Amino acid sequence: MKLVKTKQEVRDIVKEWRKQGLTVGFVPTMGYLHEGHASLIDASSKNNDRTVVSIFVNPMQFSPNEDLESYPRDIVHDSKVCEEHGADLIFNPEPEEMYNDMFCSYVDMDVLTKELCGLSRPIHFRGVCTVVSKLFNIVKPDNAYFGQKDAQQLAVIKRMVEDLDMDIKINGCPIVREADGLAKSSRNTYLSPEERQAALILSKTIAVGRELVKNGEKDAKKIVSQMIKNIETEPLARIDYVKIVDALTMQQIDNLDRPALCAMAVYIGKTRLIDNFEVV
Ligand code: AMP
Repeated sequence: MKLVKTKQEVRDIVKEWRKQGLTVGFVPTMGYLHEGHASLIDASSKNNDRTVVSIFVNPMQFSPNEDLESYPRDIVHDSKVCEEHGADLIFNPEPEEMYNDMFCSYVDMDVLTKELCGLSRPIHFRGVCTVVSKLFNIVKPDNAYFGQKDAQQLAVIKRMVEDLDMDIKINGCPIVREADGLAKSSRNTYLSPEERQAALILSKTIAVGRELVKNGEKDAKKIVSQMIKNIETEPLARIDYVKIVDALTMQQIDNLDRPALCAMAVYIGKTRLIDNFEVV
């Protein structure tokens, strides 16, 4: 496995693989890798001849008040995880390699980005779509792997690839959780022991929502209000949103009469955590 810092090195290596007729899988990440990321690398290395992992904390998707500076980084640990899970190449550029001084072109999206995280983080998905497009242009993979943990991001990327005729198959992978249910996240490292315990309210509330759906409840408002009530039992939790949206458009729905996503963002202390479940 190799680690490179420049676009040109990635292009040269991938070109060589292409000459040999090899297929390429791609896993974009912001690093500080955990088992959630590892599951994507596993899926890619199982289904492609070669796997590229990008590790890049993308400044463009953070608002000025967010955690760009404090976002955890550990390239030594990350390299080990990539190697152990069968990655062949890590692309770990500096921001200047991705965005030169003249940079002023963006990939933006309407509709799907107006709800959920897009509402609380207005510039986030423009940053995501722009960096993922750039990474796709650099790596030119056959397959790319994204986690259902960031369900809106997965829907947005699928839409972008379709809308802009990108010849890349987007593969969604299930949420990987800690033994006690908390969805794995690089941001879990911000939690104090007390907050870590309080953070279980997210997965417990997902279970409440799932149970209501399983028992036949179709009224989205009723499900959401039960879930909100449950979160409010945790004093350290502050709700950003709990919503049920159409799985394709990310627009709020009243009735569970089509594939849907039930998603939440909750602050535990200062840390904003997300979780979701699909209703199929
Ligand atoms: P990030 O490094 O947070 O930008 O995440 C990189 C990729 O890993 C995204 O596609 C995420 O959805 C995915 N991911 C992060 N956490 C998990 C998890 N707990 N389970 C599955 N995929 C995850």
